[in-house]
Amino acid sequence: MQIHRIPVLLDNYIFLLHDRLSNTAAVVDPATAKPVLQKLDALGAELVAIFNTHHHSDHIGGNRELMRRFGNVTVYGGAEDRGRIPGQQVFLGEGDRLEFGDRKAEVFFVPGHTRAHIAYYFPPTAPEETGELFCGDTLFAGGCGRLFEGTPAQMVSSLSKLRALPDRTRIWCAHEYTLKNIQFALTVDGNNPHLQQRFAKVKEARGRREATVPSNLGLEKQTNPFLRWDDPAVQSAVNSSDPVQTFARVRGRKDLF
Ligand code: ZN
Ligand code: FE
Repeated sequence: MQIHRIPVLLDNYIFLLHDRLSNTAAVVDPATAKPVLQKLDALGAELVAIFNTHHHSDHIGGNRELMRRFGNVTVYGGAEDRGRIPGQQVFLGEGDRLEFGDRKAEVFFVPGHTRAHIAYYFPPTAPEETGELFCGDTLFAGGCGRLFEGTPAQMVSSLSKLRALPDRTRIWCAHEYTLKNIQFALTVDGNNPHLQQRFAKVKEARGRREATVPSNLGLEKQTNPFLRWDDPAVQSAVNSSDPVQTFARVRGRKDLF
């Protein structure tokens, strides 16, 4: 499975999964159709699936047009998003499985950013492979999604599921927010040497207009304050020893950052 990253709008990423054997493709969170159609054209591939993580317009905006162009497209989304995702045909919940090409994926129910958000995880099929996590607006490189429809406790439980995956898992999040996230992270975890190193790297990469996505889970566990609710330094930065309260306070500060 080849993964192509397509930058769209201001800071969104669409991910196009290409199975070269069958020459079919799937697309994760198509904000717009046109750049997806261009990529499919360049690959000569047929679109067979749309994997939506949640209903926000910058994740589903291209659904209708892509369905018009490819009659065989199946639209996947969270069961709780019924009625909110254009063209949705498959209603997924925690632990559901699906297949694309020669890869199988597992679904995580990760409410918090929205009440219906799901993530798609493709485990590695060989020891040298990485797992691939498509997590929409739940986990970002260096950050996490805003809590529009969920509580801090829900988000901690959702992020805990993702945090339990292998460190090598690649994190394909839907926005290029990394630099601002890391700048914020330094305000609650500034003595963390891994975070300081990451800041330097991300600043350079963004200076060259390079993407910082995908990230990987090992790095996120070391540097992302929204996965570090049980870290003493992050806890003391927000005067709490309670994981959910720590997360909530860090999230609250980020909302104002
Ligand atoms: Zn969103
Ligand atoms: Fe978004």
